[in-house]
Formats: sequence, structure tokens, C-alpha cells
Amino acid sequence: MDIEAIFQGIDISRVFDLIGFIALFCVVCLAIVLISKIEQIKQLKDSIKKLKRSFDQLDEQAKLIVKTDLELNKTQEELDKKIIALYTLQKISRMVSNTLDENEIFRRIQQPVISDLGFEKCSVLMFDKQKNLCDKSYSGYSKDELEKIASSLQQEPIMDSVLKEGKALSSLDISEVNRKKVSKLIKVDYFIIAPVITQDGIEGMFFVGNSTASSALTEGDEEMISILATQLGQAIENARLFEQVFSSHQDLEAKIKQRTKELADALEEVKKISKMKSDFVSAVSHELRTPLTSIKGYASILMTGKMGDIPQAVKERLEKINKHSDSLVELINSLLDISRIESGKVQMKFESENIKDIIETVADLLTPQLKAKQIQLKYELPGDIPDVFIDHSQIERVFINLVSNAAKFTPEKGQILVRIKDINEHIQVDVEDSGIGISKEDLAKIFDEFYRADNVINQSLKGSGLGLTLVKYIIEAHKGKIWAASKPNKGSCFSFTLPKTKN
Ligand code: ADP
Repeated sequence: MDIEAIFQGIDISRVFDLIGFIALFCVVCLAIVLISKIEQIKQLKDSIKKLKRSFDQLDEQAKLIVKTDLELNKTQEELDKKIIALYTLQKISRMVSNTLDENEIFRRIQQPVISDLGFEKCSVLMFDKQKNLCDKSYSGYSKDELEKIASSLQQEPIMDSVLKEGKALSSLDISEVNRKKVSKLIKVDYFIIAPVITQDGIEGMFFVGNSTASSALTEGDEEMISILATQLGQAIENARLFEQVFSSHQDLEAKIKQRTKELADALEEVKKISKMKSDFVSAVSHELRTPLTSIKGYASILMTGKMGDIPQAVKERLEKINKHSDSLVELINSLLDISRIESGKVQMKFESENIKDIIETVADLLTPQLKAKQIQLKYELPGDIPDVFIDHSQIERVFINLVSNAAKFTPEKGQILVRIKDINEHIQVDVEDSGIGISKEDLAKIFDEFYRADNVINQSLKGSGLGLTLVKYIIEAHKGKIWAASKPNKGSCFSFTLPKTKN
């Protein structure tokens, strides 16, 4: 079938209807698609908006992170700066504290330590005796420059808060006008000025400064410089104290030397006088002994009656002459002995021996005297008396003197106790009695030559007052010690020590 036949068989209007229907269908479909696309676009737009918002938020956060990071870095930098500054502060503090020389303290406050703290210039200005500020230490200035700065600072009223009130002054906390004034004077834009205070008050000031704005100061710097100025004041104070102690030590040493010399001279003089006295006593005693022996001899001859009978009254006088001559001879002998022992002329025969024999001999010798007054002689001796290094006859004299004195000054039926104690390198002997005792005033003098206490016994019995002096010399010649203790009306105790071996 050909095409024409086909077209003839089709109703054209129906074709158009179909086409119209299809077209409408297409339009509807397109409209539906369009609407859905528009919906999609709207949704997409919303998503884009949301995304943009999120992006903006992210951007904000990123900016915040960057800002925080920058701030953190800055804080870290400041912290690092502070740590370095603290280390440096500690270093300077140690440096100024471990010297006791004032000038050396100032010398140590210099570059490079100050630049380690982050400052370009520094200076220590202290008042001199005339109350003028003087440079003691400086860095970043010339000496001439600083001299002018010192005098102009002292006259500047703004500085009163530092120099009169003892407060720190910083470019951080003064008005711009004042900052500029001080800046002009000390030639730095930013500065910290702290007073140096000691026990004596405000003695000066310490200042640091920077000129570049990049190194502007912080409150931490202010605190640090104030600490350093305080340390400086303390170090100066310590140095002065040391100086004082040192010079008073020197003074004391010089005085001790002087006094020692004076004492040595005085001792030499005493020795000379003492020797003169011994020589004199010895010479006089010798001179007296010869005529005295003659007097005694003639008296004895006369008394025998060989030169003719003598009346009873003369005989009695002759007996008195004889008796007094005896006492005089005894006195002269004691004087001679004392002067000989004192001048070392007596040759002691030191031997190691036991003093028990001496005690027994003396007890035998003094038995009549003790018996006459019914005085009991008692002993308190260690089981084994150690040997001592002594001159037998001299120590016998000591015992005789002490025991007979004890008997002399003890009333009838009293008691004498001889006690021996073994003490390390020596023995101690006590001769204790229950006699009349010795007053405190007399006790201080009884070893002096010729001293006799004023008591009833001494008033009735004669004595030379030389016995204890002799005893003291003998004990001292043995390198021993002698002393006495007493209670009036209760008794006395004479004690002495003797060495066990040769000293
Ligand atoms: P003298 O016995 O010749 O007076 P001393 O030198 O022996 O001389 O004694 C000096 C003085 O010390 C005595 O006169 C006496 O006053 C005092 N004295 C010594 N021993 C005793 C004693 N045991 N008790 C009391 N007084 C004493």
C-alpha cells in the first residue's frame, strides 16, 4: 500500500487532536519536571545558604584559632622572657649577695647582666656624705653624662617619690607629661627607677631604661627592678656590717696585743721586783742570822754560869732572850726558805714515792701536841694510795705545817681528818679540822706573807704568819694547787694536789 492510500484512510482532524493531546501531555510533563526542578533548585539554594553559613562559621573559628595561636605565642614569648629575666635576677642577686665589699657590689651591677634582663641602660646613684647623688655603677652612659643626670635628677620634684618616700617610679604609671620630663633627664623613653634602702634609710636609687618602643616595659619588669633594688640595699647593709665586725675585730686584736704586751711587761716588772724582794729578804736574813747566832750563843754561855754566877732575875731574862732568839731564827729560816724556793734556788729532789710514810711520820711527830688537846687524828685513804712525784722532805714540811695549824686552831677534843682522793693525773689531799674556822675576809689573805687572822688563839700563841706562804710555794714548786675552805666556828679544810708523774 502506498503512502497516499494510507493518508486517504486517516482522518486529519483526529491526527491534529492526537498531536494536540500529545503536545498537551508533553507540556504537562514539562511543567511537572519544571516544578520539580524549581523545587530542587530551591532546596539546593537552601543547602548553599546553609553551607555558606557553616563556611562563615568555620572562617570565624579559623580566625579565632589563628588569633588565639598568636596570643598564645605572645604569652609564651612573654613567659620565656620572664623566665630568662628571673634567672638573670637570681644570678644578679647571687652576685651582689656573695661579696662583702661595697664597691664590688656596685661593680657587679653592670652589663651584660643588665642587658640579659632586657634593658639598654642602667645606673646606681647613691648619696655621698654631703647628701649629693653620685654614680656608683652605670651602663649605657658616659661618666660625664651621668654626673649631670645625677644632679638634675636630685633637683627634679618628680623624683621625690623615689628619693624621699622610697617608692618605685616607672614610665608605666606616671602621666605622659611627667614621663617625658624624666625621659629627657635620663635619656631613655621607658624607665623604672627604684629606691635603694638600707637600715639607715633611702641611700640612693637604681634605674634601668629602654629607648625603643619595641622594648617597652611591663609591670613584671617594675616588680623585678624593685626586688633587685631591695637586694642591693641588703647587700650594701651586709657589706657594712661585715666591715664593722671586721674593723672591731681588728681593733679588738690590736687592743688584745697591746694589753698582752702591757701584761707581759707588768709581769716582767713583777718578776724583777719579786726577785729584788727575794734577794733583799735573803740578804737581810743572812745578815741577821749571824749576829742572832752570837746573841743566842752568848746568852747560852751566860746561862750555863761559866762566866760567873748570875742572879735569878738575870737568868730569867736570859731565858727569854734565848726563846725569842729561837723564834727569830725560825722566822729567818722560813724567810730564807721562801725566798730560796721562790727564786728557784732550792734544789728539789723529786722522786716517785708513796705519801703514806710521810703521813705516819707526821702523825708520830705531832702526837704529843694532839694528845695534849685530846684531838683525834683520822684518815680517809683509798685502799691503794697511788705514788706521787715529790720532794720527800718538802712535802713532809707541808704536812707538818697543815696538821699542826689544824691542831693549833682546833679546841680540845676536836678532830682532824686527813683525806686522800685519787683524781686522774694527780692526788688531792684534804686536811680538815673541826676548829674555829676562818672568816671569808681572812680566807682571801691567809696565804699572804705574815698574814695572821685576828682571833683568840693568835692573840695568845705566837706565830710568824709565814707557814702557809711556805706551804703554798712548796706545792706550787711541785706544780700542784692549794686552796682553803672554811666555815667560822665549824672548821677549816686545806686542800692541795700533787702530781703522780713528772710534769
Ligand atoms: P701562823 O700559824 O704562824 O700564824 P700560818 O701561815 O701557818 O701562820 O697561818 C696563817 C694564819 O692562817 C693563821 O694565823 C691563822 O689565822 C690562819 N690559819 C691557818 N690554819 C688554820 C686553821 N687550820 N684553822 C683556822 N685558822 C688557820
